[in-house]
Amino acid sequence: MRRAIYPGSFDPVTNGHLDVIERARKLFDEVIVAVAINDQKQPVFTPNERVTMLQDAIKARGVHVAPMSGLLVDFAAAANACAVIRGLRAISDFEFEFQMALMNRKLDSRVETIFLMPKEEYTYLSSRIVKEIARLGGDVSAFVPRPVVEALANKFRG
Ligand code: ADP
Repeated sequence: MRRAIYPGSFDPVTNGHLDVIERARKLFDEVIVAVAINDQKQPVFTPNERVTMLQDAIKARGVHVAPMSGLLVDFAAAANACAVIRGLRAISDFEFEFQMALMNRKLDSRVETIFLMPKEEYTYLSSRIVKEIARLGGDVSAFVPRPVVEALANKFRG
């Protein structure tokens, strides 16, 4: 049984995240999408909202969504996962991701980080840019699942 963790803020989930989840699902028996609840980024959506939006968007078997607090390596060990999945969009992601991967290896050498590249059309997509467009009243329906379009509209309306 090969299990991987895909950690992130998912504030909110985008089609880019879903693309990475699909790819990870083909490589592992089980993928746990871990929603970081104690991150420093001042998310727009609550942990519950982020988990629910992911659960609504993911139909594949073998993919589970869970909130995560504390260290990623501790979460991975508790879940008995052998790998951490991260998405790489562009060179700009590389430096931070490289640092994180090596630090996680230092903290627990049993966990391997695996980078997956999304479909080209998603390489420019981020939760941050989607929120920015939605905040300004733009159409984000090509970038996120339908329930997320509605959730963004509700957040930024009024
Ligand atoms: P974080 O706050 O940890 O960067 P995000 O929710 O922004 O988390 O993203 C989680 C993971 O998914 C990260 O590895 C990020 O690089 C990756 N990711 C985000 N958007 C995309 C995308 N459009 N294509 C591929 N990977 C992505």
